[in-house]
Amino acid sequence: MTKMPNPRNRDIFKRLLTYVADLKGIFIISALALVAYAIVDATFLYLIRPFIDEGFAATPTPSIVDGIEVANTHGFKSDSNVLKIAPFIVIGLFILRGFFNFVATYGVSYMSTRVVETMRQQVFDHILRLPVSFMDKMSPGELISKVTYDTEQIARASGNTLVTLIRDGVSVIAYLGVMFSMSWKLSLCILIIVPLIGVVVSVVNKRLRKVSRQIQNAMGTVTAASEQMIKGHKNVLIFGGQKTESARFAKVNKYNRYQNMKLATVQAISQPTVMVISSLALGAVIYAASLDSLHDELTAGIFAAMLSTMLALLQPIKNLTRLNAEFQRGMTACATVFELIDTPAEKDEGTHEVERVAGDIKFDNVSFSYPEQEKLALDQVSLEVKQGRTLALVGRSGSGKSTIASLITRFYGELREGQIMLDGIDIHDYSLKGLRSQIALVSQQVTLFNDTIANNIAYAYPGEVTREQVIEAATLAYAMEFIERLPDGLDTEIGENGVMLSGGQRQRIAIARAILRNAPVLILDEATSALDTESEKAIQKGLDNLRRNRTSIVIAHRLSTIENADEILVIDQGKVVERGNHKSLLEQNGMYAKLYQMQFGG
Ligand code: ADP
Ligand code: MG
Repeated sequence: MTKMPNPRNRDIFKRLLTYVADLKGIFIISALALVAYAIVDATFLYLIRPFIDEGFAATPTPSIVDGIEVANTHGFKSDSNVLKIAPFIVIGLFILRGFFNFVATYGVSYMSTRVVETMRQQVFDHILRLPVSFMDKMSPGELISKVTYDTEQIARASGNTLVTLIRDGVSVIAYLGVMFSMSWKLSLCILIIVPLIGVVVSVVNKRLRKVSRQIQNAMGTVTAASEQMIKGHKNVLIFGGQKTESARFAKVNKYNRYQNMKLATVQAISQPTVMVISSLALGAVIYAASLDSLHDELTAGIFAAMLSTMLALLQPIKNLTRLNAEFQRGMTACATVFELIDTPAEKDEGTHEVERVAGDIKFDNVSFSYPEQEKLALDQVSLEVKQGRTLALVGRSGSGKSTIASLITRFYGELREGQIMLDGIDIHDYSLKGLRSQIALVSQQVTLFNDTIANNIAYAYPGEVTREQVIEAATLAYAMEFIERLPDGLDTEIGENGVMLSGGQRQRIAIARAILRNAPVLILDEATSALDTESEKAIQKGLDNLRRNRTSIVIAHRLSTIENADEILVIDQGKVVERGNHKSLLEQNGMYAKLYQMQFGG
């Protein structure tokens, strides 16, 4: 039952053990407590016989109390001493049982919560170091479930496995010992009959469970239908879709009830069926006991003890048969977690460190394709931005502009060909942290953290940041004007991902964050595209402040925002198709001119 079918599982298990390697003492104490627990239970079952046989002795002699003959209620003489001690023994045993149970539960929980804690932290920290290309492939839900659910699963499964293996394993052996010590003949009968019935019960049970599961799988539609309506509430109202939605829901709702009734019926049938079949075992054992050859050696106490032990055996046996499945579940969860932990982190082999670069950026014939993709996202792109200058990238969506930004920050690894240089040094020669600290990136999606505005502006700022610095950055970003109107000013909590702020306000916080960072290189990737012209004008001043004295690469959707860039590149299908400044590009009368005319209507 406890075999480890493949060597892979053995490796995973060995690795899992390393997480509790320093908890050997607790492991041993818990294991001992589990063994003791099982033995106490067995002792209790063993004592049933003397309690009955000696407490209500089966010798039909009249008892003599103080010389007077009296018949007790059973007409039997009883050894009242046994019955007088019995309560103390019973209570004592249960106290012991409770104590061992507490020690074992505490110990096992201690170990499993430690595993969860360590593993979670490890998974979390590792995700922080994973490359963007890996995150592109994964769904956030999948990753979150690895941090929360899978780690928990591992601990629960391995805790259960441990408890079952030790406590239930010892129980079965001890119970069998109790039975055989009383009557090996009846024990043999039981050992033949019970498993036979057990097989029948489990076959019937499996079938019934399968049916229930199929029905359960068919449910869950109610959630989906409600979710659709709740999420789309506004749309339903404006299109007057109440009737449609209500009818759709009624259908799902009714179907759900049918399924529930089916499930209840199957369950209502299954329980009594299993009970009736099980009673066959009991009947067979009682019948066996009535046979002459057995009957002679059985006393009431033995028979009662045997039946109790037989019933007591069922639970640990059940647990042991489930052991492998439980263990496999734990190993599967373990495998997925280890797989994540083993995913290579971002490559970070560069060693060049520099306090502050001047900010000369150069792409030399760069070609790049995304992992597992044939198509080139960038095709022999060359560009150069000198310190303090502004380069603008324009082009249709999907042309490769953001890819250029992602390569400068080394979000993606290998280039197909070419080189990207910062201050004349290949960016791959910088340490990742060093390189990224030189760059401020403001994009269309602003990520705000569940914290105060001040802390969001100072997010991950290296070193101490003063209040004055935050205010200065917020003022330069033209964010102070709306921050001041908030109830707690800079200390306003903005809630999960800043839901209470408008797009323009979020954008200005992002700009303030970039200003505070004071990095020599600035990348604006459609930073203002989501805004209306008015907000954009307000933010533009903030952006102009941000761009001062920095090398800037500006990706813009609206051409009006980049007219005075030092150079403008038009990108199409990963290639630079035109380059020049606003004036010269208009004169070329090519793609830029066409885009310009589209936006300004002639
Ligand atoms: P732009 O920013 O100009 O709109 P992108 O640089 O985002 O364009 O995209 C350029 C091309 O690369 C597109 O064809 C896009 O489908 C592809 N692409 C962008 N990001 C990824 C990614 N993470 N994985 C695979 N392909 C991508
Ligand atoms: Mg883009």
